[in-house]
Amino acid sequence: MKIAVIGAGEMGHGIAELAALHGHEVRMRDIKVEYVDRGMDRIRWSLDKLVGKNQLKREQADEALARIHGTLDVREACREADIAIEAVFEDLELKKKVFLELDQAAPEKTILASNTSALPITGMARATKRPQKVVGMHFFNPPMLMQLVEVIRAETTSDATLQVAVDLATSFGKTVVVVKKDVPGFITTRVLGPYFEEAARIHEAEGVPIQTIDAAMRFRAGFPMGPFELADQVGVDVLHHLIMNAGRPMPRSVQDLVDAKKVGRKVGAGFYEYGEGRPKLTPEMGQAFEPLRILAPMINEAAELVAIDVASPAAIDEAMRLGTAFPKGPLATADDLGIDVVLAALKSRKGQKPAKILSEMVARGDIGVKSGKGFYDHGSGGRTTTYETLLVTRDAATHVATITINRPDRLNTLTPQVFEELDAALAALGTDDDVRCLVLTGAGDRSFSAGADLTSFGDISKAFKVWRFSRRSEEVMSRLANFPKPTIAAINGHCFGGGLEVALACDFRIAANRAKLGQTEVNLGLVPGAGGTQRLVRTLGQAKAKELVFLGSRLTAEEAAAIGLVTKAVTNEAFAAEVRSFAEKLAKQAPIAVRLAKALLNRSDMPIDAALEMEAMAFGLVSSTEDIYEGLQAFMEKREPKFKGE
Ligand code: NAD
Repeated sequence: MKIAVIGAGEMGHGIAELAALHGHEVRMRDIKVEYVDRGMDRIRWSLDKLVGKNQLKREQADEALARIHGTLDVREACREADIAIEAVFEDLELKKKVFLELDQAAPEKTILASNTSALPITGMARATKRPQKVVGMHFFNPPMLMQLVEVIRAETTSDATLQVAVDLATSFGKTVVVVKKDVPGFITTRVLGPYFEEAARIHEAEGVPIQTIDAAMRFRAGFPMGPFELADQVGVDVLHHLIMNAGRPMPRSVQDLVDAKKVGRKVGAGFYEYGEGRPKLTPEMGQAFEPLRILAPMINEAAELVAIDVASPAAIDEAMRLGTAFPKGPLATADDLGIDVVLAALKSRKGQKPAKILSEMVARGDIGVKSGKGFYDHGSGGRTTTYETLLVTRDAATHVATITINRPDRLNTLTPQVFEELDAALAALGTDDDVRCLVLTGAGDRSFSAGADLTSFGDISKAFKVWRFSRRSEEVMSRLANFPKPTIAAINGHCFGGGLEVALACDFRIAANRAKLGQTEVNLGLVPGAGGTQRLVRTLGQAKAKELVFLGSRLTAEEAAAIGLVTKAVTNEAFAAEVRSFAEKLAKQAPIAVRLAKALLNRSDMPIDAALEMEAMAFGLVSSTEDIYEGLQAFMEKREPKFKGE
């Protein structure tokens, strides 16, 4: 092909080199001889380096170089060109001018492509008389090394033009992601936007140090660089230009650095001072910052792109992985985190508008890996039942069911409706042979359940109403405590009052470090209900239970683990995996044996003679199951048993 490259700067010279190495004839145009010469020098230097590293033969380098001609003349650059790729400054008016110029200089057949990172391609297309032949080809820096090219369809781009751009980028050995609509920032620039801008906002509004945010994003979220390191690397001036072009509010820190000419690594100072290499950050420095705060707005942008059909979730994730080093891509990450968790994080940030698609997914129960479906199908045969206040999922592969109290905007507080729905869900799951372990948790990452919603049963002075609520909730908690399969309270956040009573009715309690727990009713002049006074004593003994109830203390997850109120406390990051793996382990055990053992253990406070009689009967009962044969057989054959519950 004959290719014109317009602009011999950072990107232009790289695109010219790439095209020439793939056998194309290239004319590279800039506006001054010294710019053209400098572009040619940079190409020569890069080719020599490839030869030095034995990645290219000398002849190949020489041939590639001979295929590139520098010029100042736009007509000469475009003569017989099949495609012209524009890489001039990021300025829409300049680009429109260049497109008009190219339209006049180039033959009719020439396709005109722009390497802009964010400016509307349609605007450039409309500046020409061949809008159907204009397309976006967004290469990444450096074009020789970066694997991704976003090909952007303008409102006017024809199928044939789009195909030429896709084929050309593919022939360069690149992975192409087609951006089906010309939206501001396309995929990568748009989704990456909040990575820095949200970080800057949090830093400026809350005084969180840049090192804390950078360390959290680098070590905990897995990005190669934190947002402020990245800003210094890209250039604070470039970022300033990008934010201004997009018409978004300019972070004060960016303006200050630009005014002070501290524009990043290239001048030795920006957010950091660059004496001795990259900023020294340690994983500990990032402990005080939750990466979700920055991931959630990025996921929100990506979700919006899915909603308006700019690209599929897989294409968006691929673009973000290859173009911006987003570890798994935003939408796969959203599925891992839980769409409910992401939505709750977005709702808790003032001024953030969560994409409608996220609320719709949560309402449908498509909340990611834990429900078997989110932006991706997790193929575990999951089934989801939605109640108004609960999400109930069953995973046919692991036999684990999860009930999520789904009122994140009300801190998952408990209403009469929650208890009624919980009762119905427990009845359904209790008789479902496919369910062998139940996890109970709260939606979002702030709260497991903050207790009873005191506003929901009307006039608190109507003693009978309150008594009825308390009695009914106690009945449902008894059903939970006697649920015929093992139960885990996955305490993802605050767990107070009635919330702790729900957790106490479960067999196990695993708490994330962010959680706080307490039997706090006395603080409000109430007493613990729903079995709270009774189960707490049985778990902790009289003295500890009294201390917790009388003082209404709030314990950290660690403190709760130390006194045995929770089975274990785990880091926020490890929490989901820990719950999953424990639940799956429980679900693999022999269902009948576990059920009978649970019934016996739950009644450990009855007179010992009667209890031992029951134990002997249970012992007799399990001996007639198929599971006992499978258990013994597997033991002899040194393999894992496969229990059927029969
Ligand atoms: P640059 O400043 O390094 O190069 C731009 C070049 O265009 C300069 O040499 C300039 O003299 C030349 N130029 C200006 N007007 C011209 C004209 N009328 N005709 C021919 N040449 C002209 O900029 P860059 O970093 O290479 O960016 C170019 C484009 O690529 C921008 O749209 C930018 O957004 C996009 N982009 C940049 C990067 C990056 O990381 N640098 C990555 C992806 C995309």
